[in-house]
Amino acid sequence: MRYAIISDVHGNIESLERAFSLMDPSDEVLCLGDIVGYGPNPNECIALLRTRLRHAVLGNHDLAALENFGVEYFNDAARAAIAWTQRVLSDESRAWLNGLSYEIRYPEFLMVHGAPVNYFEYILDKRTAAKAFALTDAPLVFIGHTHIAEYWAQEPDGTVGHRHMQQGGVLEFEEGRRYIVDVGSIGQPRDLNPEASFVFYEPQKRTVEWVRYPYPIQEVQEKIHEAHLPEYLAMRLESGR
Ligand code: ZN
Repeated sequence: MRYAIISDVHGNIESLERAFSLMDPSDEVLCLGDIVGYGPNPNECIALLRTRLRHAVLGNHDLAALENFGVEYFNDAARAAIAWTQRVLSDESRAWLNGLSYEIRYPEFLMVHGAPVNYFEYILDKRTAAKAFALTDAPLVFIGHTHIAEYWAQEPDGTVGHRHMQQGGVLEFEEGRRYIVDVGSIGQPRDLNPEASFVFYEPQKRTVEWVRYPYPIQEVQEKIHEAHLPEYLAMRLESGR
């Protein structure tokens, strides 16, 4: 039994297709939101995901595309991309996004876009990670949202540790610890590694493995130009920030 957990696809079909090519047909695929926004293929990403997904939760960009949620806090490029996404999103895609929930709880783990309870909060330091651990009893939480591959570990005494997974790697769970696992981003990595990121979670082995993989960035950049999406969105794909 293996889960493949992805997040922040952001309309990047080239990267999403390659992620699926690295998975087995038997993998249970879970998605942590932000399926649309920024990238040039939102409908295509939703259509492909629907053929493979077990569960997905809603991201803030998905909600922004549906009902302008939070766009006043977006930077100019993100806001322009949401306006573009709203124009191209099909009724079918919109209806599917609208059916997603904010969290999904399995007995052994929780899926949210950004953080437990405060779904769109950014966990970026030990203080916000400690606050997030306090808001759930889940021993394991999977998040995206920051576009940074990393994890937070809480000791039985409450101390929080942290590690970046910028080059991929494996986390082996230790008894008594709780974990917040940030799977990184399929469509727009921001941890200075332009290679995309997702994780395999194997409950029996008690491991999470971050996979970093290359995809044809230039093809996505050309589509961004053709769609007249902001140039900044093309540039940041190759710098990974
Ligand atoms: Zn995102």
